[in-house]
Amino acid sequence: MARILDGRKIAAEINKNILRRTEKMLSEGHRPLLVSVSVGESEDARIYVNMQEKVADSVGIAFRRINFSSSISSEQFSSEIKKLSEDDEVTSVIIQKPLPEGLQHDRLIGILHPDKDAEGLHPCNLGRILRKEADILPCTPGAVMKILTESKETLYGKRAVVVGHSAIVGKPLSLMLLNEMVTTSVCHIATDRSGHLKSYTREADILVVAVGKPAFMKADMIKPGAIVIDVGINSVEGGIVGDVDFQGSKDVAGAMTPVPGGVGPVTVSILMRNVLRAFVRKTGALR
Ligand code: NAP
Repeated sequence: MARILDGRKIAAEINKNILRRTEKMLSEGHRPLLVSVSVGESEDARIYVNMQEKVADSVGIAFRRINFSSSISSEQFSSEIKKLSEDDEVTSVIIQKPLPEGLQHDRLIGILHPDKDAEGLHPCNLGRILRKEADILPCTPGAVMKILTESKETLYGKRAVVVGHSAIVGKPLSLMLLNEMVTTSVCHIATDRSGHLKSYTREADILVVAVGKPAFMKADMIKPGAIVIDVGINSVEGGIVGDVDFQGSKDVAGAMTPVPGGVGPVTVSILMRNVLRAFVRKTGALR
């Protein structure tokens, strides 16, 4: 049976460290402020924002919600983002998804000052990964790296396969793995359609799956003893499942993240850590 990489435990440790630092800041009269911006009503986004607020509160970060009507124009919304970016009181901003058609998340993040980009997805923050200089990290790849570090497995020289090449997960993660001297391959839809996917995944010492398809990764695609990180969050009847067939794979993998309770909670903690880092960068507090 695979060792379970417990994301909740890792998240609790990160949160404890953030709180220790924000308590010290508070005693000196400082408090970071994360502003959540959303447009229209989405039940999924509301649940996610509630969770962010709860975690922010628990780690001593002030949280403010701004919700715009779905009729807001792209120009108006851009101008609101710019205002927040220029507001000295605001430490970091997160632009919640989904956004209505016509509002492009990646373009809007580019309007923010890179230091206010809580999600680590501003082109400057993504570019800093290339140079191994990033401290505000894309949250999910940051979470995967944190889980791998906490697994206490040696990363140097291992073979990793990342399945999924989105700009928010697979691509930045592949660079972050490369920065740790992991020999990294990235697979995508064309890898699968050309019939090569299994030949890659079967060779992976570290297998990260981020495709958004329930139980997509089956036991026979996994190298025995591999570390398997399941990024997927898929709503199915009966709850949330990942992209890995957990039941089928748990006796093949050496270590695995569960869903829920794996990458998800660590992702929220990395978001909060980004806010703290942005605040420290801005104020020099506790340097
Ligand atoms: P996305 O933008 O939809 O990207 C999915 C990726 O999977 C694409 O690169 C796609 O390749 C690839 N893909 C799809 N079918 C494939 C197949 N049959 N074989 C190989 N590759 C395939 O999704 P995302 O935003 O990266 O998210 C992926 C999953 O992670 C989702 O379930 C999402 O909910 C979850 N997620 C979780 C967290 C967290 O905190 N745990 C955070 C973000 C996302 P092509 O583009 O070439 O089609």
